[in-house]
Amino acid sequence: MDLAYSAEHQAFRDEVRSFLKSHKDQAPKPGERSSAAAQSWQKLLIEHGYAARTVPREYGGAGQQPDILKSHILAEEFTFAKVPPGHSGDNRIVPVLLEMGSEAQKQRFIGPTIRGEMLWCQGYSEPGSGSDLASLQTKAHVDGDDFVINGQKIWTSGAKTAHMMFCLVRTEPDAPKHQGISYLLIPMGTPGMDVRPLKQMTGDSQFNEGFFTDCRVPTTEIVGARGEGWYVANATLKHERGGLGDPNQAESRFHAILELMKSETIDGRRLIDIPAFRDRAMALQARILAMKFNGMRVLSHDIKGEEPGLPRWIVKLQGCELNHQAAGLAIDALGELGILYDDSPYLRDHGMWQHRYMLDLGLIIGGGTAQIQKNIIGERALGLPKEPKFEKQI
Ligand SMILES: Cc1cc2nc3c(=O)[nH]c(=O)nc-3n(C[C@H](O)[C@H](O)[C@H](O)COP(=O)(O)OP(=O)(O)OC[C@H]3O[C@@H](n4cnc5c(N)ncnc54)[C@H](O)[C@@H]3O)c2cc1C
Repeated sequence: MDLAYSAEHQAFRDEVRSFLKSHKDQAPKPGERSSAAAQSWQKLLIEHGYAARTVPREYGGAGQQPDILKSHILAEEFTFAKVPPGHSGDNRIVPVLLEMGSEAQKQRFIGPTIRGEMLWCQGYSEPGSGSDLASLQTKAHVDGDDFVINGQKIWTSGAKTAHMMFCLVRTEPDAPKHQGISYLLIPMGTPGMDVRPLKQMTGDSQFNEGFFTDCRVPTTEIVGARGEGWYVANATLKHERGGLGDPNQAESRFHAILELMKSETIDGRRLIDIPAFRDRAMALQARILAMKFNGMRVLSHDIKGEEPGLPRWIVKLQGCELNHQAAGLAIDALGELGILYDDSPYLRDHGMWQHRYMLDLGLIIGGGTAQIQKNIIGERALGLPKEPKFEKQI
């Protein structure tokens, strides 16, 4: 592992810092991802080469050469400046379209997506298919120039505000289950698609269920070949898992918790000076630092073009659990204020920690549950025997 930055990368870090200093005020507020402010911020970042960095210019991106260290520096500097980083549109769909989409799909979808004008949702999970995603039952058959879709999806985050869904459907019912799936792009609001919000424990309704009844999409809206959707979907999940559990996020939250522990008191004593709280903070800090150094290990492998294996596979599991534990410590530090919710006038930070605590619990499940991550680590990294497979009839 080489921890030194070259002069070029150090200069890049200085450039990003000075950009953030002078433009920070133009950044959108949290939760404004699709607002006009968010879109003009994203446009500014693309112009500077800080967002959609490696997306070719012909599709509206910054057209830079891939440089893992520069991407890492950007992520670090934006996190510590508490400024929303630029995005590459949607880290689940844009890389997939670039790699496997048709030229027409790239031209139509990538530009608006990286500018934040087109939002996507992921139609994978079904009531009977989550961890065992390949058992999905939503079907599509070809009729003329269209796929005709029938079935149900569930837990679709953001489906109410999205413009498009990337969706897995079974197109070859007689093929083995992993080979019978296709990956379709469906405009939201297509006739025959009914989206209903689901209430979450945070009180929000970000989740949705979706019903397809003879919903028609042109056969040109497939990514990859018919029956190869499983391989396309796995490429998407790889990008999603990479983003969940980012160690920079845990570290930046830890700094916020330390501030909280300096300002909250019990009987006039700052929490940071009380051994029981200090002890918990130190244990959390040790784990966060371990994940930070693990992130450097991943980076070192990536730079050399090697597959990191174990260091990469633990990121989602450890990072999401750490975020949840950090929010738990913040709630305890808030004492009786930590159990308030909704619109109580006594809320600290608009109830952010309570909201995060519940949301982060969900993120331990979303994108592959903790148990599934442990199976992957056990089987692929530690060489443990594979768990027996019981194939469902589909
Ligand atoms: C915050 C959040 C956002 C989400 N967003 C989306 C989205 O946008 N689009 C989408 O399609 N889906 C989404 N999901 C759904 C998510 O992908 C599924 O919840 C997840 O894959 C688990 O599937 P399941 O809920 O059906 O649970 P199940 O697969 O039924 O699992 C139930 C329990 O059994 C355990 N389990 C299952 N199989 C095994 C095994 N082989 N070994 C050990 N334990 C096992 C699981 O770990 C879990 O604890 C989201 C979920 C959450 C929580």
